[in-house]
Amino acid sequence: MRAAVLTGIRQVELQERPEPVAGPGWVVVRVESASLCGTDAHQYDGRIDTPFPRVPGHDFAGRVEAVGEGVDPSLVGTPVAVKPSLPCTECAECRAGKLLDCKRKKLIGLWSDGCLTEKVAVPQVNLVPRPDGVEAWQASLLEPLAVGLNTVDRLGIKLGESVVVLGQGPIGLSLTRLCALSGAGQLIVTDAREAPFSVSRSFGATETTNVLERDVKEAVLELTDGNGADIVIETSGSPASVASAIDLVRKEGKLVHIGWANDLPPIPVIPVMAKTLTVYGIGGNGGRGQYERALELVRTGRIELEPMVTHRFSLDEIAEAFAVADSKSGGAIKVVVAP
Ligand SMILES: [Zn+2]
Ligand SMILES: [Zn+2]
Repeated sequence: MRAAVLTGIRQVELQERPEPVAGPGWVVVRVESASLCGTDAHQYDGRIDTPFPRVPGHDFAGRVEAVGEGVDPSLVGTPVAVKPSLPCTECAECRAGKLLDCKRKKLIGLWSDGCLTEKVAVPQVNLVPRPDGVEAWQASLLEPLAVGLNTVDRLGIKLGESVVVLGQGPIGLSLTRLCALSGAGQLIVTDAREAPFSVSRSFGATETTNVLERDVKEAVLELTDGNGADIVIETSGSPASVASAIDLVRKEGKLVHIGWANDLPPIPVIPVMAKTLTVYGIGGNGGRGQYERALELVRTGRIELEPMVTHRFSLDEIAEAFAVADSKSGGAIKVVVAP
């Protein structure tokens, strides 16, 4: 079968790979749709360390193609979304068969070969049944939404609170929508590109600020009577944005870091103390029903994913898909790949 393989920094090619086999408790999923995210782009550009060669990709949906020992054979043909963090298979919980309790879950596509291929083996516990009315391309865009849900779950936004979302990539846009649904009042979003702002506004942003045109601190302080926002959520992973986030939050406010890269600055401890801040780190989708609820928000139309999908490619066009996701050319927000 064909697989996209990262062979080095900014090097991706199609290779023939053997078909996966489902071990006990595992299934083989035929990939119908996969999407690229910042993690994939940073594996490609070297900002996230990846062992090469590696089949990347972790956000995907498809159908169960085959089942291993101990899995109900009637699952074959079931449409599914797939949670991207796989149990390690080596810890005490995993060896006892309690895969859901694994504390050392690892992202597929980073620590093991991922979904940018035709078929992939995953544990049955990673499957989320895809209900009628949710298409594969939609179910391959759940991860940023689930990461966003993990964030708002922890924040407990109060109706009318002011929120700043730094960065309007897929996670930033998801958070814009989720904060609006959670009752944020003023919802200020930033990006270095104009392209995502029409989506931001349709998702509920009240102010959009292009960081290349306006000083963000000045803009946020002006919009919040000089106080700073109740909540500031950094999703861009840009070192400059991470460094400035603390200047935007009010005294006793909440600061969230989600944007990830190898070259981020440390958290400045003295301003955290001086402002009596609560700082949250979000390292994933939480694994506590966020995936299932993300799917429900899509099924019920609470979030429209279509505006985020700017590019669609086939697996044969994977080099172009990565080039677009990396350069964000053509106003790219989400790149979807269908094998
Ligand atoms: Zn991702
Ligand atoms: Zn484990």
